[in-house]
Amino acid sequence: MKKEPQQTQKKKFRFTLRIKWSLAVGLTIFLTFMIFASILYASFYNNLVTQEKQSTDETAKLIADRLSDVKGGLKGRAVLPLLVPEYYGATSQDAAAKFSQDSIVNQLSRTDFNIVIYNQNAKQIFASQKPKVAFKPVEERREELVRVDGRSTIVVTLPIYQQSSYDLIGYVFLTNRMDNVRRSAEELRLQMFVLVVIAVLFSGFVGYTIVYRLSKRIKMISETIQKVDRSPESSARIPEMPGNDEINDLADQFNSMLDQVQRYIEQQKEFVGDVSHELRTPVAVIQGHLQLLNRWGKDDPEVLAESLAAASQEASRMNSLIEEMLQLTRAEQVEQKNVQEVTDVREVIMQIVDNIQMLHQDFSIMADVDLDNEVSVRMNRNHLEQILVILLDNAIKYSATRKEIHLSADRDQQHIKILVQDFGLGISPTDQQRIFDRFYRVDKARSRERGGNGLGLSIAFRLVKAYGGELTVDSVEGSGSIFKVSLPILPTFENSDAEEENTPTS
Ligand code: ADP
Repeated sequence: MKKEPQQTQKKKFRFTLRIKWSLAVGLTIFLTFMIFASILYASFYNNLVTQEKQSTDETAKLIADRLSDVKGGLKGRAVLPLLVPEYYGATSQDAAAKFSQDSIVNQLSRTDFNIVIYNQNAKQIFASQKPKVAFKPVEERREELVRVDGRSTIVVTLPIYQQSSYDLIGYVFLTNRMDNVRRSAEELRLQMFVLVVIAVLFSGFVGYTIVYRLSKRIKMISETIQKVDRSPESSARIPEMPGNDEINDLADQFNSMLDQVQRYIEQQKEFVGDVSHELRTPVAVIQGHLQLLNRWGKDDPEVLAESLAAASQEASRMNSLIEEMLQLTRAEQVEQKNVQEVTDVREVIMQIVDNIQMLHQDFSIMADVDLDNEVSVRMNRNHLEQILVILLDNAIKYSATRKEIHLSADRDQQHIKILVQDFGLGISPTDQQRIFDRFYRVDKARSRERGGNGLGLSIAFRLVKAYGGELTVDSVEGSGSIFKVSLPILPTFENSDAEEENTPTS
């Protein structure tokens, strides 16, 4: 049921990253290329037109030059021999060669080039083709670019003056439809179009290939997310992927995040299991007493008093268990980087030793604190207090006949070391490895009898670890134990600053 909409969604066309990227790259290349091509085309075209104008101008001047010798006005067919003298007198090979090199002859042979000669009365006396542009007499050279039959045409009109008398004897009227310019421009346009198509296709292809590889890796990540989403406990991880870039970093970070989340889930499950197991005993005890009360307690005041006292004791044990479980959860959430408080270790030790001594006057607690007042740690004061109370409390709980406890503290370059020693029951090597586990008690009945829930050392261990320290044990069964706490010292320069900040609040 749940999968159906997903499947139909998959079939729908989407603008995937690949398509978007290919289109973007293709379009960008196309636009860039078009801009450059247009600029190049325009300047190429203008150059060609300028060249054509120059050559038309030169031809006009050449013709006017040749015809300027004529005396008594320009007349009919007399003009042609003057325009192409070599042609008319050509008999030798030399003359033929000259003929082919003559620029006027060359222009005359061009179909897009029209030479028209008018006399001084604007009467046409020679035309290489029928003129399509109306002639207007001018006094000096005139050059125009006009459109004839939809094509750009250069029109040059030049008056011819007689060489010796400077009299106006006629006009040269040239039109040039620039066929060669048009052909070259067409050719260039075609070449540019082909190039644009190739460039766009090529860049689109390259873009597509790059994004294809990129999106393939993104797909691997998304598939893993889907797997984990379907079953959060699955061990699916993003597989090793080719490449070494941000996507690979993302995959690594994602995998380690999954590991961590699953570790938390496991821990949570274990915790719930442990807690329900631990709560079962007191609940069973209370239930037993209530049943007892129900059967006989109503009539027997002795049973009534005993059962009520036992049930109340169990209830307060549950209370302390719940309180310790909360402390453990809080200890697991401590992160040193979020703690700004600075605590003077010596002061806390002295205070806790005094308090415990007061409560257990039958014990002799000896404190040997080799620390000056400058030694501080970055941690919450009540966390340090909690650690010391747990260790001293255990030392008292598990002492035998020798009611003596030694606490010593000293420091090296970077750490404060606190030792709590008792001369009691001691712990076997196998138990030493487990006493920091949640709810672990060496002798369950005995520990219970002394009010222990098996959480004290786990709380202390997690707190010390959260502050970057270590909690270890050295013990000989039957002789006693030494618990060692090591905590990183706050560097002195920071120490003094922080202490100043801290003064008003403490
Ligand atoms: P509890 O609340 O039962 O004392 P802890 O976590 O503090 O729980 O300690 C775990 C177990 O380690 C205890 O049940 C006890 O058996 C053992 N233990 C702790 N401290 C000492 C000690 N100083 N001497 C001997 N055994 C100890």
